[in-house]
Amino acid sequence: MSLVLTCLFDQGSLSRDSLEALGAGKSIAAELGAVLAAAVIGAETGAIGAAAGEYGASKIYAVQDAALAQYYCEGYLAALEAVCRECEPAVVLFVTNAPGREMAPRLAKRLGRTALVDCLSFNADKETGSIVFTKPVFGGKAMAQVAMSDAPAVVALRRRSFEPARPEQAAAETIQVKPPAIPPNPFKLIERVEEQTAGVRLEDARVVVSGGQGLGGPENFALLEELAGLLGGAVGASRVAVDSGWVSSSKQVGQTGKIVAPDIYLAVGISGACQHLAGCSGSKVIVAVNTDPEAPIFGAARLGVVGDYKEVLPPLIEKVKEMA
Ligand SMILES: Cc1cc2nc3c(=O)[nH]c(=O)nc-3n(C[C@H](O)[C@H](O)[C@H](O)COP(=O)(O)OP(=O)(O)OC[C@H]3O[C@@H](n4cnc5c(N)ncnc54)[C@H](O)[C@@H]3O)c2cc1C
Repeated sequence: MSLVLTCLFDQGSLSRDSLEALGAGKSIAAELGAVLAAAVIGAETGAIGAAAGEYGASKIYAVQDAALAQYYCEGYLAALEAVCRECEPAVVLFVTNAPGREMAPRLAKRLGRTALVDCLSFNADKETGSIVFTKPVFGGKAMAQVAMSDAPAVVALRRRSFEPARPEQAAAETIQVKPPAIPPNPFKLIERVEEQTAGVRLEDARVVVSGGQGLGGPENFALLEELAGLLGGAVGASRVAVDSGWVSSSKQVGQTGKIVAPDIYLAVGISGACQHLAGCSGSKVIVAVNTDPEAPIFGAARLGVVGDYKEVLPPLIEKVKEMA
């Protein structure tokens, strides 16, 4: 029976990204009539392997070695290559996060394949065993459908585009894999600095309220902060707002910023340049507030208000307060 392999890089417990990979992997495996497996790597993989089993993987391929205590590309790549040679998966799944971006193309090259990154959805064809993935191209201006007919299909999924797996109490079989050699880690971790955020992280928010040049100045982001706070969301920004020094660069959404895929993306005073849309086109619903009816953002938005945000946002905030 063919196998869908999800590559997990967590230590100890499963992150939201890994749960999404397992959730998507489960759907793909069900479509293909395949088995869902997980690759877990680290100095001690028992807990993460058990968690992957609890969330739907029925086979766990574990690479356990003291040298792999923390993630580094070359070591984890050697581990994953060994797992793939052992289990010959039909599909190898990553998430388009920092390790996923590094690993997917490198692993694909080693397996003689091409990686497809930033996938938003898929259709599986049981007859041919091929899978068609949909991903944005040209900075989100168009969607490409790419059929991955040769195994293994090495794919990285866009974060927040797939439902996370839910726990199920199934037993998983664990297979220990020993890579022929693990290259030494050329990096030494000196310090880990967590980004300071009050409230929900931009990448994890289900609602993002983003502001652009149209806000006219940093003080006007207060309205966005208030609305985002009421909705349990986070504030984002266009590059112009960041480059103007109005908000920190950690809030930038777009091609050279963060990629977000919330349920609701409210773009306020943002024109909708393709580089900005590259970071938010995976949102379930884009809502735009802009004075210019010709602004490109309206082409991407499901809902739009042509108007001055100073007139549109205050009554919206009042309405949300009433409903709270
Ligand atoms: C290589 C490269 C990478 C880039 N990466 C990014 C990126 O990651 N993220 C990003 O955002 N950009 C990026 N850019 C920049 C991008 O091309 C745009 O310049 C930028 O997104 C525009 O920001 P904006 O929409 O805030 O400003 P503008 O394009 O100036 O749009 C402002 C909008 O506000 C509207 N407006 C004005 N007043 C009001 C009002 N009172 N109420 C409501 N609406 C109002 C206007 O009608 C206008 O549509 C990149 C560019 C390049 C070349």
